[in-house]
Amino acid sequence: MSTQSTAASITNTAAFDAAQAVIPGGVDSPVRAFGSVGGTPRFMTRADGPYLYDVEGNRYVDLVCSWGPMLLGHQHPDVVAAVHEAVDAGLSFGTSTLAETALAELITQRVPVERVRFVSTGTEATMTALRLARGVTGRNLIVKFAGCYHGHSDGLLAAAGSGVATQALPGSAGVTAAAASETIVVDYNSPEQLEQVFAEHGENIAAVITEAVPCNMGVVEPAAGFNAFLREITRRHGSLLIWDEVLTGFRASDAGGWGLTGREEGWTPDVWCFGKVIGGGMPTAGLGGSAEIMNHLAPLGPVYQAGTLSGNPVAMAAGHATLARADASVYERVQTASDALRTGLVEALETAGVDHSIQRAGTLFSVAFGTSERGVRNYADAQAQETFRYAPFFQSLLSSGVYLPPSVFEAWFVSAAHDDAAIEHVLEALPAAARAAAAATPED
Ligand SMILES: *Cc1c(COP(=O)(O)O)cnc(C)c1O
Repeated sequence: MSTQSTAASITNTAAFDAAQAVIPGGVDSPVRAFGSVGGTPRFMTRADGPYLYDVEGNRYVDLVCSWGPMLLGHQHPDVVAAVHEAVDAGLSFGTSTLAETALAELITQRVPVERVRFVSTGTEATMTALRLARGVTGRNLIVKFAGCYHGHSDGLLAAAGSGVATQALPGSAGVTAAAASETIVVDYNSPEQLEQVFAEHGENIAAVITEAVPCNMGVVEPAAGFNAFLREITRRHGSLLIWDEVLTGFRASDAGGWGLTGREEGWTPDVWCFGKVIGGGMPTAGLGGSAEIMNHLAPLGPVYQAGTLSGNPVAMAAGHATLARADASVYERVQTASDALRTGLVEALETAGVDHSIQRAGTLFSVAFGTSERGVRNYADAQAQETFRYAPFFQSLLSSGVYLPPSVFEAWFVSAAHDDAAIEHVLEALPAAARAAAAATPED
């Protein structure tokens, strides 16, 4: 049950109407729109632990977690205190600060990178990573996987997963043929296609960019050995491996998606992209790698990159407090909460007779309807699912006070603040949602 608290000052519908009058579609990121699930986007006023509260005073168990950053839950006291302290000292200086070094040190202690450059968004991180790869190799082509999302820069919007898939756009208007022509898109989990592309274009390929675990077409597990193969084939051809951990970084595991594969298998990518968790809810992202590669960036090297608010002290404080607090107990709790949700989801769907498959990687998972036979190995599989079952499933949970991503092509996000009470609330709401999914027809 959604908890009605204080009297509403404004309804979600009125808030959405007002927003649409001044903001395209009423949202500042298309993934927040309710286009594929119907109804009115909820306007949140505050958050606490595992909960969000909207303008009408409704409470929701938050399974979006700001699309990943809120690993500790909302308003964690350590993070709030660190941010308050930073704010009191000054919002932005446009100079170097100790906070940047401190956060970079934490990152280099967690994953094998020697240098980190901070930027403000994941889009900037991946965009810069491409420029860096091209600058280092002197080559122009980039290989990406269909269904992987790497932010919204021109060359990376081809077959870019969730946001684009939910909006049913074929990529994006405004991206020139020239920009698109330097991106080669191949199917995820297909070593054969990569071999073919490298055989044809190998000497012009600057980099392969991949999500450490694809999470923007729903979660797609890398087949055993697939990431190690990416490492091997890029090295064999003198290309770089760009490892996008913007979503998975310090969330899928203590060492992100790399912690699930590379750490055990003993390999490291060349350029890493971080975001989401490293900002703890503030606009911060970054890229990292060996000193040798990263020193190609200005001011040491010829690859230019800059940012007025890069390494902003308030954002650094939030990120540092989040990562510093994210010890083994945090990942244990996130895993336990995630496992409980996944188990409850499977049980509810099986009871209701909804054909589905669950994809998971570490603490992240997602559901795809009508896919039990093949599972989901790539974007084509993800798109072939029974998407029509998601809207009624989502709406049922929403009306019970559970806020899921408004798209079936997204992972479910939990935090260490998702305690037994919050999880229990979702588990109680799942059977009705599963029945709504079961009753859905393609015409709905
Ligand atoms: C969110 C995301 C990005 C883009 O980050 P923004 O901060 O939204 O620009 C890039 N790559 C992946 C894998 C993401 O999930």
